[in-house]
Amino acid sequence: MARLGIMGGTFDPIHYGHLMTAEEARERFGLDKVLFVPSGHPPHKKLTDVSDAEHRYLMTVLATLSNPAFEVSRVDVDREGITYTVDTLRDLHRLYPDDELYFITGADAVLEIITWKDAHRLVELCDFIAATRPGYPIDALEEKLGALYTDCRECFHFVEVPALAISSTDIRARVREGRPIRYLLPESVVYYIEKNGLYLEGRK
Ligand code: NAP
Repeated sequence: MARLGIMGGTFDPIHYGHLMTAEEARERFGLDKVLFVPSGHPPHKKLTDVSDAEHRYLMTVLATLSNPAFEVSRVDVDREGITYTVDTLRDLHRLYPDDELYFITGADAVLEIITWKDAHRLVELCDFIAATRPGYPIDALEEKLGALYTDCRECFHFVEVPALAISSTDIRARVREGRPIRYLLPESVVYYIEKNGLYLEGRK
């Protein structure tokens, strides 16, 4: 049985914080592979507030190219309608029936899991790895999740990633304001953003 990391996110755009998170989780939890899964239509965001899924998918492919342990999945991009993690996990269980799944995402998103579709089914389908920025109150997060999921405290794991000081929101703001983004994300993704004129105006 292989251990498969599922890196779920909007990745608008993907940056070194995400890549470091995946690599740190891979090493810490002995994952054989990390599958990046860009969301299609995130449930908590208006479609007009996120870049086209194909752009986010292609940026994720470019960013992960050089790491043999990283792959990118289209399951969420190709599924019609709103992206619910329970559907992501069901699809991936079908594709990788023998693997143990670890869903990796930001700590703020993990804290919201109780509000997600089929919240109690989710913890039966995978373990969760919550990635935090430095200084994040992990103890408080652990306590809250423990209180919500009394029978599944061991389903949640935590990893602190200094590079998560980088954020997609900040990168989009920098592009809009004409400030530099180099060294915050892979060069190939910088070129992709420039070539396609992403983040120049509009939403934050
Ligand atoms: P978000 O609300 O945009 O992000 C929350 C925070 O987590 C942000 O600070 C974000 O930083 C960070 N983050 C997001 N993905 C990360 C990752 N893989 N590793 C490290 N940090 C990460 O969250 P989102 O990206 O839209 O959603 C995260 C995942 O949760 C997705 O797979 C989404 O489908 C799932 N989700 C499911 C439901 C549901 O089933 N009802 C609801 C909400 C979210 P950046 O902005 O820098 O990325």
